[in-house]
Amino acid sequence: CGIVGYIGKRDSQGILIDGLRKLEYRGYDSAGIAVFTGNGLEVRKSKGRLAVLEEKLGGEPLRGSVGIGHTRWATHGKPSDENSHPHTDNSHKFSVVHNGIIENYLDLKDELVAKGHKFVSETDTEVISHLVADEYDGDIVKAVQRAAKRMRGAFALGVLTEYEPDRLVAVRLASPLVIGIGNGENFIGSDIPAILEHTRDVYILNDGEMAVLKMNSVELMTIEGEIISKEIFHVDWDL
Ligand code: GLU
Repeated sequence: CGIVGYIGKRDSQGILIDGLRKLEYRGYDSAGIAVFTGNGLEVRKSKGRLAVLEEKLGGEPLRGSVGIGHTRWATHGKPSDENSHPHTDNSHKFSVVHNGIIENYLDLKDELVAKGHKFVSETDTEVISHLVADEYDGDIVKAVQRAAKRMRGAFALGVLTEYEPDRLVAVRLASPLVIGIGNGENFIGSDIPAILEHTRDVYILNDGEMAVLKMNSVELMTIEGEIISKEIFHVDWDL
């Protein structure tokens, strides 16, 4: 339902939580974040309002300057801690937030289970994290492209892997996603309000487009891997 992501130098947890709060108006049943910390890619998530997640983080904040966050509106699998996003693979090296629906998730899941993947949730989204991990051979962009081409349905994704902590990958197919361009930091959001506090310069992704964010750069391309360029859209309204 709501996606936010950050890559830069600042502590990401507050930016992610504030961004998710700006998306609250959409309604949601669970919330979660994944952050690269000194212990690797760590996930905290829970059923319920953002306040429940914040309470969980209260005693033990996730410290790190790269992260993704999500508020969920359950379509596949009841609202629960396990079904909340971000979802990971069995190695816990990959983390995914997803808006939308993967229509062919049962077929993909059967195939991945046969290969030895173990699923811990009932969601369509968990298939994505396992599929990206399965497709990974050293380049997260190519792995996401291969995975995206196998998925049918509607999705906006934010993907992180511990193997390449300097990159945040974003993909859009029939579910909105914008990229916020900062100074030494970049953002993703399923809606402009999620990132407006930090930047007014955005790229609006179209269907079949993706972005690779680093701290100091944003590369735009299609899911097929063709590099594209886009006008920066300047947001001139306020919340
Ligand atoms: N289909 C996914 C789920 O049920 C994502 C739902 C959403 O867009 O929040 O977890």
